[in-house]
Amino acid sequence: MSEIFNTKKPDFFGESRFYSASTWLKNNFGHKTIKLAIDGGFTCPNRDGSKSTGGCTFCSDTGSGEFASSIDEQIELYARKWPNAKYLAYFQNHTNTYAPAEELRKKYYEVLANPKVEGLVIGTRPDCLSKDALDLLEEINKTHFLWIEMGLQTIHKETSDNLNICYDLSVYDKSCKELAARNIKFVVHLILGLPGETEDMMLDSVRYVAKTPGLFGMKLHLLNIVKGSQMEKTHYDYQPFDSIDSYVDLVVRCLEIIPPHITIHRLTGDAPRPILISPPWSFNKRTILNRINEQLHLRNTWQGKKYNE
Ligand code: SF4
Repeated sequence: MSEIFNTKKPDFFGESRFYSASTWLKNNFGHKTIKLAIDGGFTCPNRDGSKSTGGCTFCSDTGSGEFASSIDEQIELYARKWPNAKYLAYFQNHTNTYAPAEELRKKYYEVLANPKVEGLVIGTRPDCLSKDALDLLEEINKTHFLWIEMGLQTIHKETSDNLNICYDLSVYDKSCKELAARNIKFVVHLILGLPGETEDMMLDSVRYVAKTPGLFGMKLHLLNIVKGSQMEKTHYDYQPFDSIDSYVDLVVRCLEIIPPHITIHRLTGDAPRPILISPPWSFNKRTILNRINEQLHLRNTWQGKKYNE
């Protein structure tokens, strides 16, 4: 990556000071492109007893996919505002590669048969990418648009163990290599504000993921304590940051160390208001994003400005 980005914001960011996924999608598809959250009816190894039964401690019992409803219903709503929009079907709930390959094939191709769907986004765990699943994803990737989303949350073992994530960093590394070797795009999810983590630890996770070969995008997620999660019982009053401003400050510093070509898919939390417990200001996504943009401007900085430092 050229060091010119240390002194000048890249033109391909458009108006933004980071490389948003929406900008990338618009450039790639030539139209606004919308992800439709759908529920494929999967479970996950942290809930069905294969690895654990309680789930990751931050996860609500719906599997972090609170917005899922049918494709056609969603398209009908969006088309009123964006008649030319394109759509990606987002298998979001639970672990969407955690089933025999024939079941995966049936579900993925059923969705792709909808002529309004341009491609798939598939949320999963790094330990749920079997050879059969990878072969199927490689096949789909050759004929349709596709990216995979994987939760990592943190690179720190003690935190990961406390979260009951049930896979190691080495598993993440291996799955990323497999996806990159098959030319499949992947996006990695980190959580900021996990109990026991300092800002330096969070920045170390960001730095590590940002250097993953083949990485397409990152999601930075503010820890939300939600109803139905184990953390509702153990961390009900936990405040991951003492204010919006301290969270915004950290996000700006994270963006500075992410290379400019990595697409940014999320910069805050996403829990629906009815299940959000803490932090109470998290539901106000627009305010948080506005403040991140404001600080990027005030500090005259941008994604990747300190990537080479
Ligand atoms: S976060 Fe994902 S892997 Fe963890 S319990 Fe929820 S659905 Fe399962």
